[in-house]
Amino acid sequence: MHGLMMDMQLSIASFITHAEKVHSRARIVSRKPEGGIFSYTYADAAKRVRQAANLLKKLGVKHQDRVATLAWNTHRHYELYFAVSGSGAILHTVNPRLFPEQIIYILNHAEDEVLFVDIQFIPLIEKIKSQLLLLKHIVVLVDKEKMPQSTLPLVCYEELLAAESDRYEWPQFDENTAATLCYTSGTTGHPKGVLYSHRSTVIHAMGSVSLDALGISSATVVLPVVPMFHVNAWGVPYAATASGATLVLPGAGMDGASIFELIDNEKANLLLGVPTVWLALLQYCEREKKTLHSVQEVVIGGSAAPMSMIREFQEKHNAFVIHAWGMTEMSPMGTLNTMNPHMASLSQEERYKLQTKQGRPIYGVELRIVGADGLPMPHDGKSFGRLQVRGPWIAKSYYKHEDRSAWEDGWFDTGDVATVDENGYMNIVDRAKDVIKSGGEWISSIDVENIAVGHPAVAECAVVGVPHPKWDERPLLLVIKKPGQDVTKEQMLEFLADKIVKWWMPDEVLFVTELPHTPTGKLLKRDLRETFKDVYTGH
Ligand code: ADP
Repeated sequence: MHGLMMDMQLSIASFITHAEKVHSRARIVSRKPEGGIFSYTYADAAKRVRQAANLLKKLGVKHQDRVATLAWNTHRHYELYFAVSGSGAILHTVNPRLFPEQIIYILNHAEDEVLFVDIQFIPLIEKIKSQLLLLKHIVVLVDKEKMPQSTLPLVCYEELLAAESDRYEWPQFDENTAATLCYTSGTTGHPKGVLYSHRSTVIHAMGSVSLDALGISSATVVLPVVPMFHVNAWGVPYAATASGATLVLPGAGMDGASIFELIDNEKANLLLGVPTVWLALLQYCEREKKTLHSVQEVVIGGSAAPMSMIREFQEKHNAFVIHAWGMTEMSPMGTLNTMNPHMASLSQEERYKLQTKQGRPIYGVELRIVGADGLPMPHDGKSFGRLQVRGPWIAKSYYKHEDRSAWEDGWFDTGDVATVDENGYMNIVDRAKDVIKSGGEWISSIDVENIAVGHPAVAECAVVGVPHPKWDERPLLLVIKKPGQDVTKEQMLEFLADKIVKWWMPDEVLFVTELPHTPTGKLLKRDLRETFKDVYTGH
């Protein structure tokens, strides 16, 4: 139509070309997998991104080829984020915590010919290489002097990069071109690929930098502990680059001491990650009597943030928890529970209660809950149903996969059960498959878990429904005690008694030394149900 706006296509390369011009002095800090902390500016990064784009061309990577990475959050992985997508290829970030059979499956399914890999994962590749039929180049993300010995024909990223020119003309293409590929861990069946476009990635980043979302600006020092192989570190590398934030990348150091060191050195004020990572950091701080002085906000998602964690960040570290919810199919940002005038007007205790909800949808995401009949249910904070979403950064199918069962009428069914209140606050009740069905009523395993973990002697816990002769299923509470602390079954039940309704009370409490997790840090409840299936039937 005559008189309309310019027809500029959205592109991932534009993030880095913008940062080079506008935020040239802003810094990226990275813990190198081979040791040491490295730092450079966005201007330095932009040059290396162009060198990497030239390197891809030399390796024979063509438009829309998939290029795999098996790598931590580092500056080199960051460079590939822009070089691969920007040059028109598809960045396929592989989660190294998947089972080797799953890694073989997804590398073959995506038909990756080039793999960029951190030194820690070379033994894994050596083990599975014979089954990676299409793989031609294995590029190790390491300094030349630290190249590992291997039976494989490895090449060195730094050595190859040094030989490339830093002049590169970014190609122009349609914004609906595929840019990145991420497989969901898939607790059943093969992992399924979600293919993000340049358009979805750019508008997701624009949506997430806003103050009512992550609030990322040039004053932000952001540390994404969430891995760059898990939904593009929730889009933070793009959002940080768009806004010139200081980007702090923790490399392979996910333990409490390493994360604390980076936060403290760089004065990080915004952290993002899943609850298990924060458990480790908070325990470290408690043990070593350390405080997170610089941290203003901690974004917690991936699993529900327990109130005890929200409280501990606030009261011991003066850090506000932004509870967030999303998923791989959603790029991943869905809802965020940010501070607003209403929350500010509440008492501290009411605030904590509100913060346990997963928040309100960010602009760009629409959500609804539907009942068993598929009809929408009221947003009254009480009715719960299956949570469905739609929006421009939500997948419309899986990559090269038949399964369309999650899509209906233009909505994507998240597999979560939730309530939504009058003000738009969404609260996850449970994953549909983890809800405990007791005598025809539903019990939220997440709610019971999150209250139980508030007991001072509890490090981590899980609640699962296991078969019961009379009630169909009854809750079972599994507890890991904090080192040097003790608590009995009776004390646990007493702690819960005034906090949950009677029929939600676990029939049994068992103490364990570890709990199984998925590759993205969630409790593996299917395994727990299987292991403890006979507890109430007495077989
Ligand atoms: P994967 O299934 O590969 O582990 P996802 O990150 O895509 O990875 O998982 C998305 C799911 O994680 C959601 O559907 C939801 O069940 C759960 N989830 C994410 N954030 C939260 C949260 N804040 N509270 C409760 N559950 C969450």
